[in-house]
Amino acid sequence: MTTMRRVVAYPGRIAVEPVEVPIPGPDEALVRVLAAGVCGSDLHAAHGRHPFVPLPYRPGHEVVGIIETAGSAVDGYPPGSRVIVEPDLPCWTCKMCASGRENLCENLRFFGCGYPQGGMADYFTLAANRLHHVPDALDDHTAALIEPLSTPVHAVRLAGDVAGRSVAVLGAGTIGLFTLAVLRAHGAATIVSTDPNPAKRERARALGADVTIDARSADVAGQVRGALGGSADIVFDCVAVQSSLDQAIAIADKGGTVMVVGVPAAAVTVPLPIVQDHQIRIQGSATYLPVDYAESTDLLSRGVVRTQDFVTATRPLDQVAEAFELASSGHHVKVLVTVGEQ
Ligand SMILES: [Zn+2]
Ligand SMILES: [Zn+2]
Repeated sequence: MTTMRRVVAYPGRIAVEPVEVPIPGPDEALVRVLAAGVCGSDLHAAHGRHPFVPLPYRPGHEVVGIIETAGSAVDGYPPGSRVIVEPDLPCWTCKMCASGRENLCENLRFFGCGYPQGGMADYFTLAANRLHHVPDALDDHTAALIEPLSTPVHAVRLAGDVAGRSVAVLGAGTIGLFTLAVLRAHGAATIVSTDPNPAKRERARALGADVTIDARSADVAGQVRGALGGSADIVFDCVAVQSSLDQAIAIADKGGTVMVVGVPAAAVTVPLPIVQDHQIRIQGSATYLPVDYAESTDLLSRGVVRTQDFVTATRPLDQVAEAFELASSGHHVKVLVTVGEQ
């Protein structure tokens, strides 16, 4: 029996445990992990605040690795190929899957979230159709950004053509900053970013926000509207709590779209009379599809989104608890856990 390390998040504690190296099935590959990002959803889950991930769980869905072996039915993934994971695990048979919307699969499972394995481990096995090749030009840390960047790429795509539009981005954490970068790449005219943290607002300015506003100041919606010269065509709510949704609706009023990108920890109330009478669209955005992975890969390959702007700390697997602390501290954008890097 060969053992390896795997991270398990328990209430109040992140552990590295010895487990058996998994054996790939016929349509699976055994992947040796190089690096895995800590996601905001990992922090929610580790703190017991993720609506759909009970503890304990095995984290790691922003993963880059190298194929060690592959099952007999796997084609195109020879040992030594560098891959990333598309962590949605759809059933491929429900109505959503059949219509090419497998991110909305009615029986969706998710690698690294409430699944027996995660990518914060020396190895994992996964169906080969959930792997994507990584272009040689992308280094490991950049490849680890493809998954988290794909979430805002998907949200911006759902918003429609943003070129020339006035946009607000609520929250300048990882998702908010990625959203900002994608909006810039798509030619949004004016972008106002809000966050309570001055260092995060500074990052947002550096990444191209035209104006930043303290999310804890008085009349945030009025200030954002003032900076935009009117209502926003689209508001990306990357915070998804009651106060941010209230602001988002007030900023989109009238006729705008509120795109819910952040992971809400709980239900919020919505001013339905305003939503109806002022024709406001509230749109959820859930993960991504392969087309979003392709765009993320392209944005990173062209340097439109730059790794050094986003990866602000790395820690080896044995220090994963510290990686989670850093990611929770508010001082970092993306923290990577490095595993088998040379
Ligand atoms: Zn994530
Ligand atoms: Zn399905």
